[in-house]
Amino acid sequence: MFGYMGQILRIDLTNKKATVEPLKEGVVKKFIGGRGLGAKILWDELSPGVDPLSPQNKLVFVVGPLTGTKAQSTSRWIAQFKSPLTGTYFRSVAGGFFGAELKFAGYDAIIVEGRSEKPVYVWINDGEVEFRDAEKIWGMTTNAAREFLLEETDRRARIAMIGPAGERLVKISAIVTDDMRTASRGGGGAVMGSKNLKAIVVRGTKRPEIYDEDAFNEAVKEQIESYRSNPGFEGFHNLGTNFAVYPFYTLGHFPTYNFKQKELEGAERFQAEVLRSYIVKHQGCYGCMIRCGKTFKLTKGPYAGTVWDFPEYETHWSFGGNLGNINIESIVYANMLCDSYGLDTISTGVAIAFAIELYEKGIISKSETDGLELRWGDPDVIPELVKRIALRIGLGNILAEGTKRAAEVIGRGAEKYAIHVKGLELPAYDPRSAKAHGLNLATSPIGASHCIGWNKFEIMGIPKKVDPFATEGKGEIAKYVQDETAIAETAVFCIFPFNTEMVTVDLYSKLLYAATGIEEFKDPKYLWLVGERIFNLERAFNAREGIDGKYDTMPERIVKEPVPREPSKGQVFELDILLKDYYKVRGWDERGIPTKEKLKELELQEVAEELEKVC
Ligand code: SF4
Repeated sequence: MFGYMGQILRIDLTNKKATVEPLKEGVVKKFIGGRGLGAKILWDELSPGVDPLSPQNKLVFVVGPLTGTKAQSTSRWIAQFKSPLTGTYFRSVAGGFFGAELKFAGYDAIIVEGRSEKPVYVWINDGEVEFRDAEKIWGMTTNAAREFLLEETDRRARIAMIGPAGERLVKISAIVTDDMRTASRGGGGAVMGSKNLKAIVVRGTKRPEIYDEDAFNEAVKEQIESYRSNPGFEGFHNLGTNFAVYPFYTLGHFPTYNFKQKELEGAERFQAEVLRSYIVKHQGCYGCMIRCGKTFKLTKGPYAGTVWDFPEYETHWSFGGNLGNINIESIVYANMLCDSYGLDTISTGVAIAFAIELYEKGIISKSETDGLELRWGDPDVIPELVKRIALRIGLGNILAEGTKRAAEVIGRGAEKYAIHVKGLELPAYDPRSAKAHGLNLATSPIGASHCIGWNKFEIMGIPKKVDPFATEGKGEIAKYVQDETAIAETAVFCIFPFNTEMVTVDLYSKLLYAATGIEEFKDPKYLWLVGERIFNLERAFNAREGIDGKYDTMPERIVKEPVPREPSKGQVFELDILLKDYYKVRGWDERGIPTKEKLKELELQEVAEELEKVC
């Protein structure tokens, strides 16, 4: 099998057994790999109603047919599982070097199932699998555990692990790599923790075989030229997503004060030239010339001496603007704490904003915050709350459940201030300022994720500019970017080059055919069909769980409160109008469930038959 390693590793933690299964050609043709493969495995193997933190949940790590090849930006990896945070199907993507190493060890996917009696880690060394005792490292932060694991295995190995938050089943906990890249959203860390699995350590020396080397090299050359000539390349390389912070604030995409969208005094602190002054090193994922990652160094304030992976755009927002905080040092430090304890920076920041607003409104008092004074813009309270969430202390124990459940526990009208969709906290985009992007957040199968359909039309005017406030035609462009993302994540491509059109589906098709030799992949139209098929399969998974259009919602603030500042002043999110249009474009019924006809058109007959029994 060209491009692929042709094998899936199944790890049974209950019985400490590892078995190898062949990657089926029929599945590859239909779902390509990466996210498509993971979605298919979860649909086939998870019975509806499974408790996400039970041994019956499965955790699938996938890579794609271009992972570990010369193609650029294709070595990301995905964790897929039923989420303890949202109760839905979930996919969480990360970068770094773990994905490439997994492929070099000989696998296209790992399926983790069961639960170990005691903490373990799994050591995969070129096809040899060992279950090793992890009691010594249970409780360690990710950086400490990394040192131990590399020492005990191989210094060249790569790791996906959890920190203390995942061990404590914090529902907003992340899976973290040795180079501090995270599959952060949806509580994958808690799924690992529930299985008593501290880490997967992997080392490999194999390489995927390419079907047509000349054609592949030619396509990679075209990709590199496209990167070099793209106007976004330099900015992205120089500053990563940090370049977007200040401009996006001025465009209304960087919501402030728990989406109250007040002016943020001192927002200029987030300008590119200020953020650039913290950079001491550039870094990137395996096989990516963009190298958008940066290392920041703090030279002043209480956190002076901290040298850490930079906060992304989202994290500048979640611990910055969303908390009314302009202290960059505290944001960098909070980001470091999240990586060390294994927390999702977006959900953690939104949970803190929620708590601050409840305190401001008098819904919670000092007696419930363990004596902490919660104030907007206070940089000192942020690291303290991050720690308390990770370790489930006091109010932190409630926030560790995610904002939706925390609001249910607190009651007293708290739900009004909980900013989530399907239980997943909103990212740094205000749906009122970009309606198709908001539509994506409302309809995404995993809840409010910006990464599963980032609307480049509205946000960047790519491939063409559209009015971000209009409601007409938004179903069409929301579907377009959602399906395109699903296509990209079969590789597993990083979504940044797709969002800037450094890579298109046409170019992916060339790379994919040259790598695999599979005839169907020659036609970009076929890839669009696969993208739509994957998205519908994910939707069907949720429908089988009883999660339908009723869950395509928005927080009350977003649909009722007009934005108070320019350029989105007066805008609300017209949920009902937008959803109606979107379901029609998707070919779903009025309940937001894929119709029998749509599923048949996508060659998902067996899915249609199963859904018919339960919906
Ligand atoms: S663009 Fe950045 S995140 Fe994406 S693959 Fe390259 S280095 Fe990694």
